[in-house]
Amino acid sequence: MENNVLVMIPGPTPVVESIRQEMARPIQAFGDPRFVADYKALIDELGALFHCGGRTFPLAGTGTLAMEMAIANTTKRGDSVLIVSNGFFGDRFIDICERKGLQADVLSAEWGSAVSPEEIDRKLSEKNYAAVTVTHVDTSTAVVAPIAEIGKVMAKHPGTIYIVDGVAATAGEYADVDGMGIDVMFTGSQKCFGVCSGMFILWAGQRALDRRRSLGVIPEYYVDFEKWIPIMDNPAKYFATPAVNLVWALKEATAIIREEGLQARAVRHRRNADAAAKALESIGFTILAKPGCRASTLSVAIYPAGVDDGAFRSHMLQEGVVCAGALGAYAGKAFRLGHMGNITENEMIVGLAAVERSLKACGADVELGRAVGVYMAEMKK
Ligand SMILES: *Cc1c(COP(=O)(O)O)cnc(C)c1O
Repeated sequence: MENNVLVMIPGPTPVVESIRQEMARPIQAFGDPRFVADYKALIDELGALFHCGGRTFPLAGTGTLAMEMAIANTTKRGDSVLIVSNGFFGDRFIDICERKGLQADVLSAEWGSAVSPEEIDRKLSEKNYAAVTVTHVDTSTAVVAPIAEIGKVMAKHPGTIYIVDGVAATAGEYADVDGMGIDVMFTGSQKCFGVCSGMFILWAGQRALDRRRSLGVIPEYYVDFEKWIPIMDNPAKYFATPAVNLVWALKEATAIIREEGLQARAVRHRRNADAAAKALESIGFTILAKPGCRASTLSVAIYPAGVDDGAFRSHMLQEGVVCAGALGAYAGKAFRLGHMGNITENEMIVGLAAVERSLKACGADVELGRAVGVYMAEMKK
């Protein structure tokens, strides 16, 4: 059974065969001219695809390391950072900032809604902030932040670096680094890119690179932009060993994304998420995120009364689908269903069918086929 489990957590996401094949290739030396050319091509493609005129860093490490890289290169001890938090992952920045000796001010939304661009504007007018962090999709709440509108607000505050955590969003939700006035954006390989975990991509615009240069020597070593820029120019040089096979996998993932088109991919994610929400609502779930700020990459669905979280998720597993538990105040009251990256309509149908069967096994009055029927009808529209 182990091999047949469909992974519908908010990352890792299903990995398609052509990406898996890249990870199974015989290893090459990181200085092999063939690998160097592949890595360079990936760096350039990722920069072009997401419209980043600065630097693009696809490196070994997870999304959390990218969060640290963003802060390390744009702030110095004593600076203030405004953390816009729509949930658990927004809050993670507080700890990262406080450990570095930064003053972390937090603008939080109630779980299920998003902080508005107006509130951010107001806060930025009151005090000088070195940086603002915004979580594009907070994976705890499945709330999407209006990053383009926030970008317009940021244009009024040119001294503040705009950092977007795109880990559960980028290549699902639409993003355009330079076009949206984003200074730093990053994601992890295991979310919308549909690769295994182990790499992150961080895009740094010109203003972020200028900020880094103004800081002189920074305390952090591995995540220092200045250490990596010569490598990104010429990956034949050594700083720290690249994750060779994951670079190939990411290159294949990027080719898939380019072929589909970023806009088309965002539209696909939107339609899919809207259909999934209707399907889940049709069998008694309540979607945590309010309409208007619902992410397209995952759903957090609150159980109908009387359904036990542990029992539901263990039935899901028996049905061959793994979903995730909810976090924070919603732990035990909701589950999280990832539907990002290269997930297909057929996989969605399998996932929703498992939800129906599991709900029924938990004693709920469910008409089998209802959610799946709603999903298919919505996707036909
Ligand atoms: C998953 C996630 C992270 C953390 O990424 P890791 O790869 O687990 O370190 C950060 N932010 C968001 C929004 C995420 O979804």
